[in-house]
Amino acid sequence: MWRIAQACPQCGAAVSLGEADRLLICGYCRCRLYIAAEGPFRYLLPSRGCLPEEVIHVPYWRIRGQVFTLEEGKIGQRLLDRTYRAADLPGVPDSLGIRPQAVKLRFAGADSPGRFLRPKERIRPTSPESGPPLPGCEPPLPGRDLAFIGETKSIVYLPVLFRDGLYDRLAGRKIAPAAQPIDDTSRFEEKAALGVRFLATLCPRCGWDLESAREALVLLCRTCGVGWNVQGTRWQTIPVCCLPGQCPTDLWLPFWIIRASVKDLDLETYADLARLANLPRLPDPRWEGEALCFWIPACKMQLTTSLRLARAATLTFPKPVPEPGIPDCEHVPVTLSAEEAAETIKVILCDLGRPRAPLQERIDSIAVRPDSAQLVYAPLRKIHADFVHAGLSLCVNEKIVQFGRALSLNL
Ligand SMILES: [Zn+2]
Ligand SMILES: [Zn+2]
Repeated sequence: MWRIAQACPQCGAAVSLGEADRLLICGYCRCRLYIAAEGPFRYLLPSRGCLPEEVIHVPYWRIRGQVFTLEEGKIGQRLLDRTYRAADLPGVPDSLGIRPQAVKLRFAGADSPGRFLRPKERIRPTSPESGPPLPGCEPPLPGRDLAFIGETKSIVYLPVLFRDGLYDRLAGRKIAPAAQPIDDTSRFEEKAALGVRFLATLCPRCGWDLESAREALVLLCRTCGVGWNVQGTRWQTIPVCCLPGQCPTDLWLPFWIIRASVKDLDLETYADLARLANLPRLPDPRWEGEALCFWIPACKMQLTTSLRLARAATLTFPKPVPEPGIPDCEHVPVTLSAEEAAETIKVILCDLGRPRAPLQERIDSIAVRPDSAQLVYAPLRKIHADFVHAGLSLCVNEKIVQFGRALSLNL
């Protein structure tokens, strides 16, 4: 895992952050600040000696996450962990390899010395152009690429310098003896767009502390009973609902309820889904009037668990009606965005379709466009080593929940 060195914006103490951290927690002054940026986070690799103003920062896309693939009727999952060059410059390597793991990164900012080459559009991480995987990471499975859920999609800059050729300032050696300086100034970015902002984790409406966890994407205000997330560098309210409680409730599990248009597949209502899944139940006339929604866990967990929960909740009929409000006791933090959850709809369809083969053969032509997403918490009750919700047929082992929570420890 990469580490990022950052001085606490409030007291200046050194703080070490993980890549997926959205929260800076200072061990010295105890402040908790949310890290926000317009676009992806951008990091600087350290250089040998201080950086002169003539240094040029070469961007690399940094991709880490799960790729879902389909091969011979089986849905597979692999970790993808790689960097690949996002700007053309003769002599610089295609990938940074494992070098960023060995050093501490820093956030790029408007006050960073040097100039920044503009990154090209990010290509799909599993495309052959993105290069071979890093040592120690399994290559993606052969077969069709269904979805990519990124824990990290960021940009990291390699510092280089033109003297009598091109020098890599991280390695401290010449990498392209014949390279010529870049004359075209349009290849560089405005530095004002770089950098992160640190937002106080206080409710913008009432000023009270927001409940926050290291990797949480949605923070709750207990006073106002609303959720907040960051769009770019600003707080925005997000409607939060809860399903009617079970007594007692031991844990709340978040779901995204996503309405989506599925191109090339007749999927508008719950009845359409029941036909696709070939449900062994007598059709109910109410199915035709029920708009289809996908229920997807809003936290990162193992694929098999996530698919099982999505299948159980999505296929439940009739569903409990959510009511506005926030969880009244312990809840699993939201660590998967609505966009990422929507990415998994194709995977869910591949898993739900019965028989599977005809749908899976057509999967490349099926496009999913999310229309709306709503955040809902389901109340779970602890029974022995499991958390369950009988109405939605949910059952999840406490170890899996603990693992999800460990990812975003509320320190
Ligand atoms: Zn501090
Ligand atoms: Zn509030």
